[in-house]
Amino acid sequence: MNKCILLDRDGVLNEEKGDYVFLESDFVIPEGVPEGLKMLKAAGFKMVVVTNQGGIAKGLYTREEVKKLHNKIQEASGFSIDHLLYAPLHRDFSKTLASKPGSLMMERGLALVGASSEKSWLIGDAERDLIAGKKVGVTTILIPTLKEKESAFADFVCFSFLEAVALILSKG
Ligand SMILES: [Mg+2]
Repeated sequence: MNKCILLDRDGVLNEEKGDYVFLESDFVIPEGVPEGLKMLKAAGFKMVVVTNQGGIAKGLYTREEVKKLHNKIQEASGFSIDHLLYAPLHRDFSKTLASKPGSLMMERGLALVGASSEKSWLIGDAERDLIAGKKVGVTTILIPTLKEKESAFADFVCFSFLEAVALILSKG
């Protein structure tokens, strides 16, 4: 079976702004992220973005805008990412199992790329990401941003994307 990295978006692939990111001008890719994605790809990892996008349900932005920002990270990383999964609903409007900390996107991501949870990882900056990862049995990495600084659901804490990549590559 394949090995996979489940990637939260805001705070991991682009800078956390503390609010919904949907403008291109707010989508800032930190140094090292494109390089790290390429390194993971070269090491044989599949990569799936798993992102809550409840701003769609709130009418703040559209699916097309989500896709436009996804294309920015894809172009920057030489199209390293295999799939983009996002949850467009919001708990204010309807219950959903897809939004993190629900695990539906994680399950879909692993299934889409034929990955086993034992060999797979999740990188996130919020506890809800880590909880979702734990539900499907992947190893979790917290990158602290404006959100959690630590979490009981984090197997590891790394302070940059490249540090997380180095850890993953050191473990095979
Ligand atoms: Mg995040």
